[in-house]
Amino acid sequence: GDVIVTSNLWKTYVMGDQQVNALRGVNLRIKHGEYVAIMGPSGSGKSTLMNLIGCLDSPSKGSYWLNGHDVSKLNDDELARIRNKEIGFVFQTFNLLARATSLHNVELPLIYNGTPAAERTARARAVLESVNLGSRMMHKPNELSGGQRQRVAIARALVNSPSIILADEPTGNLDSKTSVEIMGLFDTLHAKGNTIVVVTHEPDIAEYAHRVITIRDGSVASDQPSSRITGQK
Ligand code: ADP
Ligand code: ADP
Repeated sequence: GDVIVTSNLWKTYVMGDQQVNALRGVNLRIKHGEYVAIMGPSGSGKSTLMNLIGCLDSPSKGSYWLNGHDVSKLNDDELARIRNKEIGFVFQTFNLLARATSLHNVELPLIYNGTPAAERTARARAVLESVNLGSRMMHKPNELSGGQRQRVAIARALVNSPSIILADEPTGNLDSKTSVEIMGLFDTLHAKGNTIVVVTHEPDIAEYAHRVITIRDGSVASDQPSSRITGQK
């Protein structure tokens, strides 16, 4: 089935008497289990699209179904609830709580949705073990390498078993060797059936995905299998 369906999605930012049409009628369909990269130059609308897909913001016009829910007309509280349930976010800057252990960082989404403490800890431990951080559960972010921090963030994204993993420039703060390691982890997650959407301006990172969507001036300019799939480069 489809995890993401957008129909004629528009986003207009209004600042005083200025208006910017950041998205101009985006139509997208992403199926369960797909691995998609969203590319495009700076200012093309990638962040805006990511914010809408991630239920961080509402469209100005058009509709958006996330895992069968019509989310385009929800208020902020309803968006927050659906976001916690359906979306696992991974950011360029990791966005971990500096004073908290890996375990506590990964438990946070479960604290927010009221999961009982014992279950919370068990699930956070299991998902940290699944990203090979079983020996780093009690470490704080400044006691971890960049790649380990991003793996904590990925564990946090996974802990609620979301419908999609939404990653914004996930390797933007990592060296190339660590970037390869993190993209390898996304490969593993995709192989396990996770739906993954990676927003990036780096062609090498986009090529890890199986489908590459390019945004230009707020519209979908191209939507093609990656060269990983076509075997062409
Ligand atoms: P990127 O996603 O390319 O790393 P950003 O999303 O931070 O970069 O910014 C892209 C463009 O959007 C920039 O030109 C920036 O000035 C503009 N922009 C981002 N946020 C705002 C905002 N809150 N108000 C006005 N312009 C913004
Ligand atoms: P990208 O992520 O591809 O760099 P953005 O989605 O950040 O692009 O920006 C798309 C367009 O919308 C740009 O023209 C940018 O300046 C504008 N924009 C982005 N965020 C805001 C905002 N909060 N307020 C006003 N304009 C914005």
